[in-house]
Amino acid sequence: MISKKVEEALNRQINAELYSAYLYLSMNAYFLSINLAGFANWMRVQALEETTHADKFYGFLNDRGGRVILAPIEGPPHDWSSPLAAFEDAYRHEQKVTAMINALMDLAIEEKDHATASMLSWFVDEQVEEESNADGIVRQLKLVGDNSGGLFMLDRELSARAFTPPAASPE
Ligand code: MG
Repeated sequence: MISKKVEEALNRQINAELYSAYLYLSMNAYFLSINLAGFANWMRVQALEETTHADKFYGFLNDRGGRVILAPIEGPPHDWSSPLAAFEDAYRHEQKVTAMINALMDLAIEEKDHATASMLSWFVDEQVEEESNADGIVRQLKLVGDNSGGLFMLDRELSARAFTPPAASPE
């Protein structure tokens, strides 16, 4: 069984992961609107990844005998002043998600909920990568500056990102 406190926190995290998917999908639409199909592709893959994060929490909460309660998903912003502004937002967002995962881990430890802590350790590692990916593109965009050739090359590079569905876990 799972404590009420952990159950509520996991439900909030399901909502946060789905909001992340919404945010990145909105960034996908923004990049498509300014004809940067590679950046748009990167965001679409990111959005798909976020739905797998939500699904991990969803499956875990059900497995532990908790009750999933789906709350409304907030509407994301839909316009950014530049590709850099969008990626700076993405990076800030991932830092916020990291803080949420850390707070969840603190709660799991406080509640002596080892199963939740073990599940969360995957997300602790994942957040290192998420922050590094977004920050890496922010840095590249800063280097590119107003150089449209550089932006074009970066767009080409980001078009190569492909979605890898998570490996099916043995039942
Ligand atoms: Mg996530």
